[in-house]
Amino acid sequence: MVDEKHCPTCRQLHLFRRVTPAEEVHIAREVGVAEARGFWRCTNPGCLWVQPYHVQKRGFELPKETFG
Ligand SMILES: [Zn+2]
Repeated sequence: MVDEKHCPTCRQLHLFRRVTPAEEVHIAREVGVAEARGFWRCTNPGCLWVQPYHVQKRGFELPKETFG
């Protein structure tokens, strides 16, 4: 399941997908387990942007060394 959203890192529309379990574990350390379940990631190669489905301002970039 993917959905097209504006990515602030790519500065254009890109397909987003739900985060993987490994990504969710990392995100949960940042925002808590409950909120991490609602995160989506930009699928543009090399892009590390993740965000809650509807809330771009609460998104952030995953660490490149782990998820790049
Ligand atoms: Zn992106």
